Amino acid sequence: MTAIPLTWRIGDVLVMRVEERIHGVPRETLVPGITDAHLAEHADWVSPFFSRSGRLLLSVHTFVVFDAEHTIVVDTCAGVDPARPLPGDPEFLERLSSAIDGGLGAVDTVLCTHLHFDHVGWNTCIVDGDRVPTFPNARYLFARVELESADTSSVHEPSIAPLLDAGVVELVETDHILTSNIRLIPTPGHSPGHVSVAIESQGERAVITGDVMHTPLQVAIPELTASPFDADPKRASATRKSFLDANAETQCLLLGTHFPPPTAGYVRGPRARRRFVSSED
Ligand SMILES: [Zn+2]
Repeated sequence: MTAIPLTWRIGDVLVMRVEERIHGVPRETLVPGITDAHLAEHADWVSPFFSRSGRLLLSVHTFVVFDAEHTIVVDTCAGVDPARPLPGDPEFLERLSSAIDGGLGAVDTVLCTHLHFDHVGWNTCIVDGDRVPTFPNARYLFARVELESADTSSVHEPSIAPLLDAGVVELVETDHILTSNIRLIPTPGHSPGHVSVAIESQGERAVITGDVMHTPLQVAIPELTASPFDADPKRASATRKSFLDANAETQCLLLGTHFPPPTAGYVRGPRARRRFVSSED
């Protein structure tokens, strides 16, 4: 766990990473195409993102986006439902609350990049035996096509239905504009209505990736796909390639939804030799 959340400033917008957990995942269970040769070839820059034994370090974290008028939580991590494949951290909400001035009640918008368990887990919490919205003053934005087309069977009851019952869900298009600084970008493939989040302020730009990538190694090898979890691996791969082409050799800061620290960086190099370069370097 990172003691002090990482933060980045994009013009007038502040983005903060609040970590739930980093999991060392056998890479064949997530991105099965990764080989020892890939890790050896890119060892000079991918080592922070893999364990010594070659496990993929999968960070589960929230990004909190603060602009002048809004406090937006992007993705709510895994939560502690024992039925879920990756156990979350019961202390996460306390950590998130203390990282935000005014606590969870100060959050006015929750956005889920998609409706997989590790992005919706803390949408709700249990109070007196009932599932209620975790963020009492927030509207929850889901892409309409995601709610209508993605397989949400395992998360519907705990993480979606209580929000629908409470009337706090707002269904939006995948290119929805949230504020003058923040808008959604459709990035389908991992799920049908998957979105990334573009931030632009004072001429500076950043994008929260969502699950367009699960490891920075995919910057170099976009054909690598999270095939066990991608609803449409071919489309996910095509989306990843165009996403990388659009952001390569620009000043657009990529904020990786599953990247462990340093988490943020740039796509650098010609297409055949691309790499993820940390914003700290
Ligand atoms: Zn995910």
